[in-house]
Amino acid sequence: MAQEQFTDVAVIALPLKTKFRGLRTRELVIFRGRERWAEFSPFVEYPDTEAKTWLQAALSWANEPLPKLERSAIRVNATLPAVGPEQVPQLLANFGRFGSVKIKVAEAGQDLAQDLVRIRCVREIYPEVKIRIDANGGYSVADAMRLAHALGDSELEYMEQPVATIGELVGLRGELSKAGLAIKIAADESIRKAEDPLLVAREGAADIAVLKVQPLGGIKRALEIAASSGLEIVVSSALESSIGLSQGLHLAGALPQLNYDCGLATAKLLVADVTDVPLMAHDGVMAIRELEPSAELVEKYRASGEREAWWKARLQRCLELLES
Ligand SMILES: [Mg+2]
Repeated sequence: MAQEQFTDVAVIALPLKTKFRGLRTRELVIFRGRERWAEFSPFVEYPDTEAKTWLQAALSWANEPLPKLERSAIRVNATLPAVGPEQVPQLLANFGRFGSVKIKVAEAGQDLAQDLVRIRCVREIYPEVKIRIDANGGYSVADAMRLAHALGDSELEYMEQPVATIGELVGLRGELSKAGLAIKIAADESIRKAEDPLLVAREGAADIAVLKVQPLGGIKRALEIAASSGLEIVVSSALESSIGLSQGLHLAGALPQLNYDCGLATAKLLVADVTDVPLMAHDGVMAIRELEPSAELVEKYRASGEREAWWKARLQRCLELLES
């Protein structure tokens, strides 16, 4: 790897406003390439064989020319973690105006009744917004059907990864159709964690593909998957800093067609960012732009020496995997 593809490496630990994905702090690496700053931020539990694809995405963003944009701004959803109803008003007020909200459900240690309380609480405060849920594969087919029956099909824009496997997704779609419930299914983990991201489409397991640019290896690869899948597309973030989000925004901007709000307004979930002008939504819309980190913020949120050593070793191992 030529040195100029990869300079000014900094390991950052950004605090989160509320626990998300079981995390209170989001650790990530930023570095400067020939063209722009990039972020490498696979979640810490991911093995190197998975994390290396995230590095491939970061390296291509940092060093390659970008595809042509079809639009200059992206409509985005608000995101609500799996909190109790008492936290819902404040967390959502934080997003300002928005047309759709993704509600996290099926959190470990919680039950379906708590999910329904959270969803109904959102509906009461925001009668007009579109609601999509994300279970991260945490429901059984039976639970997903219970939720679908309890809410009815006019209430949900779609269910994101309600169940874990492609087989269960296919099964759930069959059950929904038998019950006469027209609820769309979006696949997330079944695409980004699969050896073959197109299997979901071939098996008829989803209506919508949630594409995340880092786990898919970069914008070019994600655009190829979008085209080959024939599915409708939602671009989502992986809880990145604004540096990582700018890459996701570019993917959303480069897609030939975009029918849904994207899940890129996640900088709101962070207490701090690496830039003074974070990529935030204004009235549910995000402008596409590139950005540079603030030296002051990088210093302020630099990870501990121990975490820095861990990330640099991981980066090195992933680099070797990519080069071998
Ligand atoms: Mg998801």
